[in-house]
Amino acid sequence: MFKLSSLLFKSKSKSKNALTIIRTFNNLQPCNASTHANSRVPISRNFCTAPERDSIEYDVVIVGAGPAGLSAAIRLKQLCRENDTDLSVCVLEKGSEVGAHILSGNVFEPRALDELLPQWKQQEAPISTPVSSDKFWFLTKNRAISLPSPFDNKGNYVISLSQLVRWMGAKAEELGVEIYPGFAASEILYDSDNKVIGIGTNDMGISKDGSKKETFQRGVEVKGQITLLSEGCRGSLSEQIMKKYNLREKGGAEHQTYALGIKEVWEIDEEKHQPGAVLHTLGWPLDHKTYGGSFLYHMKDRQISLGLVVALNYQNPFMNPYEEFQKFKHHPAIKPFLEGGTVIQYGARTLNEGGFQSVPYPVFPGGAIVGCSAGFLNVPKIKGTHTAMKSGMLAAEAAFGVFNEGLDMNTYWDALRNSWIWEELYKSRNYRPAFKYGLIPGLALSGLEQ
Ligand SMILES: Cc1cc2nc3c(=O)[nH]c(=O)nc-3n(C[C@H](O)[C@H](O)[C@H](O)COP(=O)(O)OP(=O)(O)OC[C@H]3O[C@@H](n4cnc5c(N)ncnc54)[C@H](O)[C@@H]3O)c2cc1C
Repeated sequence: MFKLSSLLFKSKSKSKNALTIIRTFNNLQPCNASTHANSRVPISRNFCTAPERDSIEYDVVIVGAGPAGLSAAIRLKQLCRENDTDLSVCVLEKGSEVGAHILSGNVFEPRALDELLPQWKQQEAPISTPVSSDKFWFLTKNRAISLPSPFDNKGNYVISLSQLVRWMGAKAEELGVEIYPGFAASEILYDSDNKVIGIGTNDMGISKDGSKKETFQRGVEVKGQITLLSEGCRGSLSEQIMKKYNLREKGGAEHQTYALGIKEVWEIDEEKHQPGAVLHTLGWPLDHKTYGGSFLYHMKDRQISLGLVVALNYQNPFMNPYEEFQKFKHHPAIKPFLEGGTVIQYGARTLNEGGFQSVPYPVFPGGAIVGCSAGFLNVPKIKGTHTAMKSGMLAAEAAFGVFNEGLDMNTYWDALRNSWIWEELYKSRNYRPAFKYGLIPGLALSGLEQ
């Protein structure tokens, strides 16, 4: 039998897969007397009988292995190397593997990656399809009217974001970050002063009636001196934290607003594939009162990613965003791309649309919120990957300052406001609000503003 307590202690500095071992341990140890009799683990520490969860400690616990969380993890370890010191850093990811919950097909602005891993080209990052054309259409039911593109995608790339985060995950692990896919953080842990001291993962193997199945596994407490929440848009723990510490009020922020993005990745015929081609549309099938639009990006390997984004304040209660997306795929200018093709991936996710006005105070006692959990998506660009990454890097720098320079996490807020994220979000702050008057006034006002 494993000596779990010593295993957990070791894992703080070295053990590669402590949480996986805990899970395996649970699987291997049925709760019976004979196991206890031969056990070198004191009975009070045995998983099967102890009501307490086991606990594992790190310096920094990061929730979510998306672009924000992985950038934070990488930056922390880089700073450790630069300063000849070490911090234990772990990343929990609820997807079965890093990238499993990330929807592919993304126009990627490499600004933050250039800063984080300037050698990304030499290190074979999966970023190889530069934007080759940038079209913008206004759709009516039967026509596509070409307009000047408001997107400046020069220097950007069409990528698979799930492949990029997998690559970033490998980079983080090379630097010594421990990544645990398959573990959802379901609870925040607080100390007696209401400071966040980590997270709890969920119990698994519970049947619908609440009883424990044979496969029951107790969750684990993952404690950190600093906890960074990088759960993406409307993260459940991040929302709890914002409420508990009144972070919207503290940051003078408006409420957050959302859109739903439905996305499919298709493999299409070779002769229709134009690697790097980017298309955005406005108009049909959405009515003029509904904010949203579609996109179609040509990735590599005959793959395209297409989708429809619909702001969730739509007024017609009978509208079904998925049906609108189906209609969009039958538009005479879109359908020919898809004929003969196959859907290979699909999904839907929310996006933040509040922008500058809705960014909460992102620091709480014991940690900070990064990436889309805090709402750094740039709405007119429909891009949040680069800002998510940059916010993760800034939070990492603040966290490093806490351990090594006696600073506190509030320096993250100052760094954010002095960064290009702030500049970008400030510039685009009136774009989305202009559309409350409808599509045409919105386009006119935002055109003037830009
Ligand atoms: C339809 C659509 C199209 C988009 N197109 C673009 C684009 O072209 N270009 C661009 O730059 N941006 C685009 N974005 C936005 C971009 O995807 C996000 O800005 C970016 O992914 C945010 O990164 P993040 O790390 O903050 O969050 P995410 O990428 O959402 O990652 C969060 C990670 O945390 C995990 N997680 C969440 N909660 C928990 C938990 N409690 N415990 C453990 N793990 C957890 C999730 O599984 C996920 O892996 C698009 C978004 C959508 C929805």
